[in-house]
Amino acid sequence: MTSTVELIDFKERLSDATARFLSRQHRLFIGGEWVQPASGATRDVIDPATGAKISTMADGGTADIDAAVKAAREAFEHGEWRRMSTNERAKILWKIGSLIDEHAEELAQLEVLDEGSAYNVVKNFYVRLSADHFRYYSGWATKIGGSTVPVNMPGEWHAYTVREPIGVVGQIIPWNVPLLMAAWKLAPALAAGCTVVLKPAEDTPLTALRIAEICREAGLPPGVLNVVTGDGKAGAALVEHPDVDKVAFTGSTATGKAIVRAAADNLKRVTLELGGKSPVFVFPDADLERAIPGVAEAVLLNSGQACTAGSRLYIHEDVYDRVVAGVAEYAESLKLGHGLDPATHLGPLISERQLSRVKGILQAGLDEGAKVYSGGGQPSGPGYFLRPTVLTNVKPGMTVYREEIFGPVISAMKMSSDDLDALVSEANNTVYGLAASVWTKDLSLAHKLAARIRAGVVWVNNHNQTDAALPFGGYKQSGWGREMGFSGIEAYTELKSVGVYLG
Ligand code: NAD
Repeated sequence: MTSTVELIDFKERLSDATARFLSRQHRLFIGGEWVQPASGATRDVIDPATGAKISTMADGGTADIDAAVKAAREAFEHGEWRRMSTNERAKILWKIGSLIDEHAEELAQLEVLDEGSAYNVVKNFYVRLSADHFRYYSGWATKIGGSTVPVNMPGEWHAYTVREPIGVVGQIIPWNVPLLMAAWKLAPALAAGCTVVLKPAEDTPLTALRIAEICREAGLPPGVLNVVTGDGKAGAALVEHPDVDKVAFTGSTATGKAIVRAAADNLKRVTLELGGKSPVFVFPDADLERAIPGVAEAVLLNSGQACTAGSRLYIHEDVYDRVVAGVAEYAESLKLGHGLDPATHLGPLISERQLSRVKGILQAGLDEGAKVYSGGGQPSGPGYFLRPTVLTNVKPGMTVYREEIFGPVISAMKMSSDDLDALVSEANNTVYGLAASVWTKDLSLAHKLAARIRAGVVWVNNHNQTDAALPFGGYKQSGWGREMGFSGIEAYTELKSVGVYLG
């Protein structure tokens, strides 16, 4: 069954600031200035809810990446950033957080138009978390110290460690939750004293460009942050650049592998936040009133376009029928529409390409024997919408079981065993290892599963919640390294040992 998505006239809802920002011919932010790309090329910025052009971005390439890396190197080696007191650095980071709050409406509107999510989720969740991220790392700027180390080398020694900024960092981010992805990358790198070239995804350049302005207004010196918009070719140029000390990447596992290969030439440091295929377990003693919407949202948040999406839903046989029916009812109740419509719960997928990719995986699942329990199909009307879909009869080995779908598709599977080993082996039956959740009141069971699931994050009675203080990242092919907390600082620093021979 398909229905029609009714779109509001979003233009009436835009603040003056948003309308002004959209109407600009966007350029690249290099050395603290807006500059034209060397080729003069531009790309259209598309609202995925309507398919219509909303703005124009610069299509940066190799020459622009080179200019941005030069500006970042100059700022790192000779600028005031590294010499600035850590107190001053902390104040700038705090100010960036405050300015994000001050411009929350504009940032949220730009993000909704660029990426498609519902306004309330973007403003109250992603924009707030982005501001908090800068404030959290503002606190770290003054606390990146080393330690003295007792040593047994011959003679008398004073030995200590210091943490130094890694240098010029290339940061490449995806199109899902792009403002928060930029904040996750920028805040720890800046707190550590690095300089940055940020390459946002070609589908979602807007909030990264606005953040560049906010950083300048907050007092970030020229060249410390450079933003080059463009596609994967610009990203590849950044990864291959010999004067980049580190690449921090969030995106697909396939691109992550290409980055590892390309970074080998100068052995630049690489951290990777990649895809996932996260398992979710619902046990009969769970608070089902919370668990049913909770496990549905575990996938449907952002229309399934979240790396932590709990896309493999295991339900104990005693409550299987009730939970599947409840999840389907919840999914069916969500209103699809333009993210700026206050009635909207679910927005579109990011692009035509992503919509056809998700439909292709869904079809492969059906061809392999999965059944549509509810939803499915593309509503009529413009935009890249897909109705939330609950699949049953999903078996290991099927495409929908194996592959990261990145769309609003829930695969519900019956757990017919209480055997912990069997559940653990099912949970870990994936090349990914990003996240998982366990829904039960039996804390002993929850802890036993949490200990044995090979994933970077395990939630108990919740899903998709992140905090700047809590390390985040993946096992296996979900990534290398951790962001958040002190791990975020470690990712942007080198540890130096100094041994002073005293005689
Ligand atoms: P993608 O890999 O296609 O693109 C990500 C970014 O890499 C974009 O900016 C793109 O232009 C750039 N890029 C493409 N080819 C490149 C190359 N050869 N060299 C350098 N850069 C290149 O990913 P996507 O489709 O934009 O994002 C969705 C993916 O991101 C999903 O797999 C999702 O799970 C993952 N993701 C992971 C996390 C996490 O924290 N683990 C968070 C969000 C998204």
